[in-house]
Amino acid sequence: MFGFLKQVGDYSREAAAAARGITQGLAVTFDHMRRRPVTVQYPYEKLIPSERYRGRIHFEFDKCIACEVCVRVCPINLPVVDWVMNKETRKKQLKNYSIDFGVCIFCGNCVEYCPTNCLSMTEEYELAAFDRHSLNFDNVALGRLPTSVTMDPSVQPLRELAYLPKGAMDPHGVPDEARRAGRLPQDVVTDPSATRQHQ
Ligand code: SF4
Ligand code: SF4
Repeated sequence: MFGFLKQVGDYSREAAAAARGITQGLAVTFDHMRRRPVTVQYPYEKLIPSERYRGRIHFEFDKCIACEVCVRVCPINLPVVDWVMNKETRKKQLKNYSIDFGVCIFCGNCVEYCPTNCLSMTEEYELAAFDRHSLNFDNVALGRLPTSVTMDPSVQPLRELAYLPKGAMDPHGVPDEARRAGRLPQDVVTDPSATRQHQ
């Protein structure tokens, strides 16, 4: 008899605990409904890529010396450097340069090792095409100025977490003039109190 009563008591306690748990869970769920969604509403809102973002490669034809270092350091020897030896000047003359972005892995090795800085990474990440052959960019396509999220009037640019002011977690509603957390090296150097500490 007592065993049965204990079972009933345990069951009621567990049922009450379960109901409490469900109520707490629902309270958290309903509380989240009141908060602003963290969704970035692409394509009307876009995150600004970080300063080291490895997007589409930009190429400057005039600076290239056709050394082919970019080809050698590329994991798949991807850049195609088409040059001829100019017998008069005894210098290499670049005829064409191309990178097939359908094959590129955007590692940035070519940009890192180019001795004349004629390669650079842009913040362009919207490279989708219907025909993969159109992803093979020649030197004209590679030299095109990159699109920028911040220059597009139809887009609301939003900052990534690392670029938000101190304490901010949501990029929505952050004023443009608000600086990212932390100080720049030049601010630290020009700060008299920091200089005094240093002395
Ligand atoms: S490394 Fe730079 S300079 Fe040399 S071939 Fe490649 S793009 Fe041209
Ligand atoms: S980003 Fe990497 S994979 Fe693409 S061309 Fe440069 S070195 Fe090659």
